[in-house]
Amino acid sequence: GCGICPKKCPFGAINIINLPTNLESHVTHRYSANSFKLHRLPTPRPGQVLGLVGSNGIGKSTALKILSGKLKPNLGRYDNPPDWQDVIKYFRGSELQNYFTKILEDDLKAIVKPQYVDRIPRAIRSADKTVRTLIEAQASMDNLEEVLDVLELNHIMDRDVNLLSGGELQRFAIGTVCVQQADVYMFDEPSSYLDVKQRLSAAKIIRSLLRPNDYVICVEHDLSVLDYLSDFICVLYGKPAVYGVVTLPASVREGINIFLDGNIPTENLRFREESLTFRIAEAADEFMADRSRAFTYPTMEKTLDTFHLQIEEGDFTDSEIIVMMGENGTGKTTFCKMLAGALKPDGDQKVPGMKVSMKPQKITPKFEGTVRQLFFKKIKTAFLLPQFQTDVVKPLKLDEFIDQEVKTLSGGELQRVAIVLALGLPADIYLIDEPSAYLDSEQRIIAARVIKRFIMHSKKTAFIVEHDFIMATYLADRVIVFDGEPGIDARANTPESLLTGCNKFLKNLDVTFRRDPSNYRPRINKLNSQLDQEQKLGGNYRTSL
Ligand code: ADP
Ligand code: ADP
Ligand code: MG
Ligand code: MG
Repeated sequence: GCGICPKKCPFGAINIINLPTNLESHVTHRYSANSFKLHRLPTPRPGQVLGLVGSNGIGKSTALKILSGKLKPNLGRYDNPPDWQDVIKYFRGSELQNYFTKILEDDLKAIVKPQYVDRIPRAIRSADKTVRTLIEAQASMDNLEEVLDVLELNHIMDRDVNLLSGGELQRFAIGTVCVQQADVYMFDEPSSYLDVKQRLSAAKIIRSLLRPNDYVICVEHDLSVLDYLSDFICVLYGKPAVYGVVTLPASVREGINIFLDGNIPTENLRFREESLTFRIAEAADEFMADRSRAFTYPTMEKTLDTFHLQIEEGDFTDSEIIVMMGENGTGKTTFCKMLAGALKPDGDQKVPGMKVSMKPQKITPKFEGTVRQLFFKKIKTAFLLPQFQTDVVKPLKLDEFIDQEVKTLSGGELQRVAIVLALGLPADIYLIDEPSAYLDSEQRIIAARVIKRFIMHSKKTAFIVEHDFIMATYLADRVIVFDGEPGIDARANTPESLLTGCNKFLKNLDVTFRRDPSNYRPRINKLNSQLDQEQKLGGNYRTSL
């Protein structure tokens, strides 16, 4: 058996990519006839952070709903749901029996930071919707001050939640959960909208909730953050929107490697044909980079209201990807808009007049019609090119929803459409603002590869804003580090090598990274660990490999 299901379980005995259809006896939940099925469940452990990783639509939020006690699992019997006693009986002999017994009999309190923070303002009923009122009303532990500090909420305490940006809402939502006395804390995708520094702060405050008898569970697509946050991991695999299967708990390194490899050695099971790696050499070896054309931009300044941005002069070439790294509010989007000619610098400095195609940070679809119609309208030439189909459209798996109305797409689907649209326009410079937003970890890796291959093939230049550190370092030939005071006075440094740029960026954050020897994945060192201290002493915030 699989160790979780009480009955004899086919998992473990077979070596397959597509699971057989006769798994009805191992269903934990099914929403309705012919709808999504979740097989097995993650097993939380007291005093530890359980990390969940897997594709969009694979059942992660469903698993959280079940583990929080808000959704009673129907064991697949959607037409004749069992009662809780039957459910507990079903899990007899496993750690989950214990867990559900506690949830029901000891009345454990479970709270969830929801995945879609944008929906929070509408859901709040009270008349006074200021951050202060809402968060203070929930505070039942003595950590309010610490939470507000670490999550940088102090300066928005008197603001109405309707006026918060995505990142502010996310920090407010995480904070509201962290100040409450509870037994089970769940965070569904806490890093969306946050920059690297804020992701690490969120991870720290979430880990500070650990007590010997409480449970913490996090769903996370940023693999560096998942790694840093978790004590152990369950992977979810299967077929999005059709079924999801939860693996047995694994150590953090093992779990992330299972996810990347697409292979579960202990179950002798492969769930993805290819494994995902981060070998930087990959793309460079494959294509002879042509860097014959060089371009420059001058030292510039931009003032927007009370925000001031100083841009150091820089240069770039063909076949080059420059990644912009920096905290939210340091002017990355502003600089992109200046390169695109949508914003003019102060004074009479000029950016080189080049053809620019931009994927904006915020994607708000207005198009009436299907994805295919949109592509025919905007990028027909590229869309009909076999090379573009092979390099861009196919790997991003657009065929799954190409005939759906654009307005009905999910965030991850829209993001992929926006990437294709941007790459489909002929241009000298491609500006890609936060491509990983709403994408799951697998889609992020695929999107990064697609962009890299496209730039190498087309011999153009890309400027990319990216907060997922793994994706950023995979993409970057060079980096521009943004520093200074967010929202007030910031600076864009001149483009520099990945190594010196990352060092500058990570030094500001006081974190060090190493690489996993098996798949080259960057991993954050635990603060003050031996490696962390050694690397800081040597000035190597990120080891090269
Ligand atoms: P994830 O969090 O991994 O992206 P979810 O658990 O949200 O995935 O969803 C898994 C699948 O279940 C999706 O195909 C989703 O559309 C479907 N689903 C989620 N909630 C419901 C529901 N209340 N009724 C029917 N289907 C649902
Ligand atoms: P980033 O992309 O690095 O997060 P942005 O370039 O979007 O940063 O914004 C930098 C700062 O400029 C932020 O504090 C933002 O509020 C401010 N800002 C952006 N656009 C405007 C505008 N049109 N008017 C006034 N302030 C603005
Ligand atoms: Mg989800
Ligand atoms: Mg931005």
